Amino acid sequence: MKLDKLIKDVKKKFKADIRVNLTEQSIILSGEMDNWEDIVNVGYLFVDPKSRVHVVNNIKLRGMKKKKTPLLIDNSLQDQEYDVIIVGGGIIGTTILRELSRYSLKLLLIEKEADLACGASGANDGMIHPGIDLSKDSKKAKYCLAGNLMYEKLSKELDFPFKRIGQYIVFGSQKERILSSYLLYKAKQLGIPGVSKLSRAEIIQKEPEVKSWAKGAIEIKCTGIISPYQAVYAFGENAVENGAEVSLETACLGFSLKDGGIEKVRTNRGNFKAKVVINAAGVFADEVAALADDKYFSIHPRKGSDLILDSKSKPLVNTIISRFPKVSQRHSHTKGGAIISTVDGNVLIGPDAEEVYDKDDVSTTSRSLERVFRKHHHVLPKLKRTDIIAYFSGLRAATYEEDFIIETSKKVHNLIHVAGIQSPGLTAAPAIALDVVEMVINLFGGNVKAKPNFNPIRKGIKRVKEMGTSERQALIKNDPDYGKIICRCEEISLGEIKEAIRGAIPATSIDAIKRRVRPGMGRCQGGFCLPLILKIISEELKIDPLLVLKRGQNSRLGMFQTKGKEEADEI
Ligand SMILES: Cc1cc2nc3c(=O)[nH]c(=O)nc-3n(C[C@H](O)[C@H](O)[C@H](O)COP(=O)(O)OP(=O)(O)OC[C@H]3O[C@@H](n4cnc5c(N)ncnc54)[C@H](O)[C@@H]3O)c2cc1C
Repeated sequence: MKLDKLIKDVKKKFKADIRVNLTEQSIILSGEMDNWEDIVNVGYLFVDPKSRVHVVNNIKLRGMKKKKTPLLIDNSLQDQEYDVIIVGGGIIGTTILRELSRYSLKLLLIEKEADLACGASGANDGMIHPGIDLSKDSKKAKYCLAGNLMYEKLSKELDFPFKRIGQYIVFGSQKERILSSYLLYKAKQLGIPGVSKLSRAEIIQKEPEVKSWAKGAIEIKCTGIISPYQAVYAFGENAVENGAEVSLETACLGFSLKDGGIEKVRTNRGNFKAKVVINAAGVFADEVAALADDKYFSIHPRKGSDLILDSKSKPLVNTIISRFPKVSQRHSHTKGGAIISTVDGNVLIGPDAEEVYDKDDVSTTSRSLERVFRKHHHVLPKLKRTDIIAYFSGLRAATYEEDFIIETSKKVHNLIHVAGIQSPGLTAAPAIALDVVEMVINLFGGNVKAKPNFNPIRKGIKRVKEMGTSERQALIKNDPDYGKIICRCEEISLGEIKEAIRGAIPATSIDAIKRRVRPGMGRCQGGFCLPLILKIISEELKIDPLLVLKRGQNSRLGMFQTKGKEEADEI
């Protein structure tokens, strides 16, 4: 790569002076620029696909400062000693934790937020991808299909919803029909089972609402759907039931290094010893690497927004459908989105892709929501704006090389990076976890014993809505709380909410309960059930209702008592 020429090109095109340093593992860019998208584009210019060198883009956005420090400070973990600690409670951290809990190791997962799955793992499409768009030699392809094929067994063992509903990539012209043959070739090359071309009549029979434009489709039978946060809780809870610890609202703030390795982990809950550290920090993985003086890659967050439609829209789509991508989209860094019939009975559409500077920026904009709606409205013309009940954004943890990084650090002997896990990370996670466990065992010199009493089975929260009449009656007879419906939109009972609060990783906030059992996820979005849930939490945890939190520290819902007292007391 001709670095001098590239530096000159950047100066000419972006009017910016940047500096470039080379190390064995990285090309390090530094300087200052005014526009974040330009900074990201400069990063891509320095990617050399032929080398194994990563781009570290340290170019600063002029005028921006870092912020956010943890609000909770105590000493609950001070001077503890662990065999393995995992930084990050997303799908990557929890699948690894669960796999490691098969062994006699003292394990801790720390998560800076107040619950698991607060990063990308709680804000994605829930698709278990086949990986048909991936390059054959990528780590993404290696882990995607392997992970996909593991989900059936895992969902049975851990009792989380998974459906292998299949996917249709629909084409609307003769030209697209010819081009779509490439997907058949890719499927063969990647070993993806159950991929075939359907005629117009066949696709209309499977998905009647595309009849106004469809000429045929590629069917991919192995694509599935899950509830992403249900899966994260399932992995995390099973690990805890097998002896692992999870500490929420616990941020990794630094490491004490000794003899080329990490000796201690510094957090807002105390400093403790760790023999092995796993960096599974999502969009913050490069920052966690920097804390160990090992930042050899960069993560630039790429936002994706999704819309959720009321269950009224469910008859419009039986599986997952998308339009065969236009030429301009085929080389973009997104799968282009889809219309998905979710495991919870809604329809989800999206996501789009937008580079953002702030790693906490999960705001939604009317511009991107409109873009997502319009794009998919062409696919299903009966989609209605008035059926949109919620929307969200998540951040993909993109590296400049656009592939996963799953390796033991070359510099810090007891640190493993599981970074750059953008889509299809949800799909790939269980397969990644198996390899990471191998790496951990190697770091212990193979000296790790399997736990004889490991229990792979976890029971999820009972779902009254999904039960037949006799099953429901028997449950209610045994515990009348399952007969008291708290959320009418989603038919969630008091018994289910209490189960969530008393779970292996207790749900102690409004959002944590919402994501485990769904009160507030229906048409009214919590308008009716929220005060009831607040009361249930307060009674179960024996705390003042005014101290019940929406999410984490500083998110109290109530400020004053307005009724039932002569005067309103401020807490
Ligand atoms: C819009 C969108 C749609 C997607 N759709 C799909 C899909 O359909 N199928 C699919 O397979 N993949 C999909 N993905 C990708 C998938 O969501 C991610 O690959 C996956 O969730 C990444 O998991 P993770 O555990 O690495 O990261 P995260 O879930 O982000 O977890 C990292 C965690 O680390 C924590 N953390 C960070 N820094 C620290 C610290 N210093 N101390 C303690 N904790 C820390 C964070 O709070 C976070 O909870 C999608 C992604 C997006 C954004």
